[in-house]
Amino acid sequence: MINITIDGPSGAGKSTVAKAVAKKLGILYLDTGAMYRALAYSAVKSGIDVEDERAAELFLKRTAISVGYENGEQRVYANGTDVTAEIRAHAVSKAASDISKHPSVRIGLSGLQREIARSADVILDGRDAGTYVLPDANYKFFLTADVTERAKRRYADLKGAEPFEKILEDIERRDSNDSKRKLAPLKKAPDARLIDSTKMSAAEVSDFIVSVVRGGA
Ligand code: C5P
Repeated sequence: MINITIDGPSGAGKSTVAKAVAKKLGILYLDTGAMYRALAYSAVKSGIDVEDERAAELFLKRTAISVGYENGEQRVYANGTDVTAEIRAHAVSKAASDISKHPSVRIGLSGLQREIARSADVILDGRDAGTYVLPDANYKFFLTADVTERAKRRYADLKGAEPFEKILEDIERRDSNDSKRKLAPLKKAPDARLIDSTKMSAAEVSDFIVSVVRGGA
């Protein structure tokens, strides 16, 4: 089984890169952020306070988060309902960042991620894939970029729907949340290769990762 992990802060380009690598290598791509987003989206919709650990834990117990693939694209479900489109809303990013800091939530969703990784060749992107979810992964990468560059990319993705300053502030807040939480904070695994993509295109990063996995770098 091949397991590849890509961790890094918000907006570093992990999902674009991981998707491209998965396609080139013919393996599965698991977007772990989508699982946190699906849980956060459903919790908010059900009136749950995502800051409240006990409430979040109980909500996860009664909410089955699962993923599936349609034409090679990942879909994510909450209690069987496809929420793939809804979870991309900007407000969901904040709720996902808040709900993901609770240890019980991380333990629950990490277990699901491990199950998927055990059953298929997969590239996972997240914050703790190489340190906590799959410490024995075959290949580990830590993808980062300057915070202003990351905010610029998100701004372009959102096509101006949110002001640049707000996006920058949100990214800084999520970086801080991700880095400071008690269980499985955002951290480079000692054996992960560091890639600073500030001046690299997504294609350059994915080519590099593919060359490492194929033994060329
Ligand atoms: O990667 P994405 O931006 O979709 O993730 C949404 C939020 O979920 C992140 O801000 C992060 O706080 C959280 N997350 C996490 N661990 C992961 C993936 C995402 O804590 N493995």
